[in-house]
Amino acid sequence: MNENNKKIDLDPVEKDVEKKTSLRPQSLSEFIGQQFIKSNLEAYIESSKKRKKNLDHIILYGPPGLGKTSLAHIISNEKNVNFHSTSGPAFTKKGDLVTLLSNMMDGDILFIDEIHRLSPIIEETLYPAMEDYKCDYVIGSGPSARVVQISIEKFTLIGATTRLGLLSRPLRDRFGIPLQLSFYEPEDLMKIIILNSKKLKFLISEDSAYEIAKRSRGTPRIAIRLLKRIIDFSIVNEDDKIDLESAKKSLRKMKIDSEGLDEMDRKYMNCIAYDFHGGPVGIETLSAALLEHKDIIEDVIEPYLMQRGLVQRTSRGRILSQKGLEHLK
Ligand code: ADP
Repeated sequence: MNENNKKIDLDPVEKDVEKKTSLRPQSLSEFIGQQFIKSNLEAYIESSKKRKKNLDHIILYGPPGLGKTSLAHIISNEKNVNFHSTSGPAFTKKGDLVTLLSNMMDGDILFIDEIHRLSPIIEETLYPAMEDYKCDYVIGSGPSARVVQISIEKFTLIGATTRLGLLSRPLRDRFGIPLQLSFYEPEDLMKIIILNSKKLKFLISEDSAYEIAKRSRGTPRIAIRLLKRIIDFSIVNEDDKIDLESAKKSLRKMKIDSEGLDEMDRKYMNCIAYDFHGGPVGIETLSAALLEHKDIIEDVIEPYLMQRGLVQRTSRGRILSQKGLEHLK
């Protein structure tokens, strides 16, 4: 597989389990936090229902695990339309996209995860499909090949990306509704943890849910993953409830520190602090030193560390802030 096409998926097993146990929120009212996005989406959905029109194309962007896929599902539930899901790297041939588009019904939602990984030729097929609901298709090959234009039903494309900047300008401009997801406050993550522990039928005290929330890097997927692992430890210890003490003990076992940083975060920060004397150090050098793919560093590790002010990005490279240095000590 081409290195650039590698799908970033921190925990595919976790995603799969979530699908099966339907931990995903099913409606906007079950979707916690991101108030600004929710109220705007509510208005767009209601307006489209009143006008009996389809929703405009939507692009959801932000770090992994913040709820982009969940929101796309919710939109299709709220609109009561079919949901077709795929991802940018999954398209190898133009024909795949044309087949998918020609099978859509009026109002259906096409969700493309990691849309920044679409190849240019697939992107070009999308432009007329998004704008005029038409696709060019080549029949035959060689000198006898001819291009036919097919009409497709009016669908809504929902794209999700961790990197809006990597989308080509023409593609970005075709999305009428851009929505940026941001990291969650601990109060919202606490609600998500309590809700999920109910779904998993395991008791948890409020203070321990808050403790886990504070250490979840502002990310629901991480909060849910930590909750599940803490439940594992509790079951092994024959505890019938998670309290503050047992939560802290399990978090220590998983090497999650008081800021919610894990071993990989600390390895990254230690590398800048000690191997490169606090920085600045370029991303390529860091990637080589950590033996970690550049995209993982930029998409998964850095956004939260930067949001917390532990690391800063300058024109000459990454540097560790005073706060970052103190945290390591
Ligand atoms: P993304 O597509 O941005 O990587 P997902 O939509 O897969 O993120 O979300 C990861 C998991 O976190 C979901 O399975 C869902 O259970 C949970 N989740 C995300 N956002 C919320 C939210 N706002 N409220 C409740 N659960 C959420």
